[in-house]
Amino acid sequence: MGGRQVSKITFIGTSDTAGIPVYGCNCAACKMYRQSGRRNSPSCAYIEFDENIIFIDSGSDALLQIREGRKFIAQFLTHFHADHAYGLLRLRHMTVSAPCYHPKDDKGFADLLTREHGLKFIENVPFKSVTAAGLEFTPVPLIHTRPTHGYIIKTPNKTIAYLTDCSGIEKRSLDFLRKADLDAVFIDASYDTEYNEGKHLDFVQANELIELMGARDGFLIHQNHYSLSYIINNKLKLKYAYIPENFEYDL
Ligand SMILES: [Zn+2]
Ligand SMILES: [Zn+2]
Ligand SMILES: [Zn+2]
Repeated sequence: MGGRQVSKITFIGTSDTAGIPVYGCNCAACKMYRQSGRRNSPSCAYIEFDENIIFIDSGSDALLQIREGRKFIAQFLTHFHADHAYGLLRLRHMTVSAPCYHPKDDKGFADLLTREHGLKFIENVPFKSVTAAGLEFTPVPLIHTRPTHGYIIKTPNKTIAYLTDCSGIEKRSLDFLRKADLDAVFIDASYDTEYNEGKHLDFVQANELIELMGARDGFLIHQNHYSLSYIINNKLKLKYAYIPENFEYDL
């Protein structure tokens, strides 16, 4: 490594589509966020590696400014649901070209796949790694309502998995993740244990999966305001807990 020797992932947002606080809602989580002037936006993150920038999902306008003065290398998209893809509608208007890796999904989102502009859309091959800025990204199929890939991200120091959105993980993916010797897992935990529509994991399922993968650490993302309220109201202490917006993890 040269240059500034920065190597970390920062989560711009860690919530679901609704964000927190939700307008008009007075649940414990929304109140807490409002009282402390906090805001959480849909789950997305960026990786800094030396002067390079790589985006994982793109559900927040705040990501756009992060590129200024850096070298934007690539976008990795988990799936084409709006809360992950809508930022690409603006991100693509750049005068340079960069790849956007994504699962095969002919529907895409809005006109992204027919009007690429600066983004070059490249379909992932499940379990086949691509390299960006010297880091290794491996797409892993997840169970969700649209074709969805999580990513195993390997740096010279750490191996992590970014696994959103999912209601479960099929056996071949789970076996693959187990073999990856993961330092940390960041995983969808939209629901609490009393409300589960079957499109996402709840926090108990997410905790169990982190253990099943044999990861050394785990963090919950894609949080719903009601699920967070459930944790606050019941004073629950999870082994692997939700992370707040702007959370940083060294890679
Ligand atoms: Zn609320
Ligand atoms: Zn989704
Ligand atoms: Zn989502």
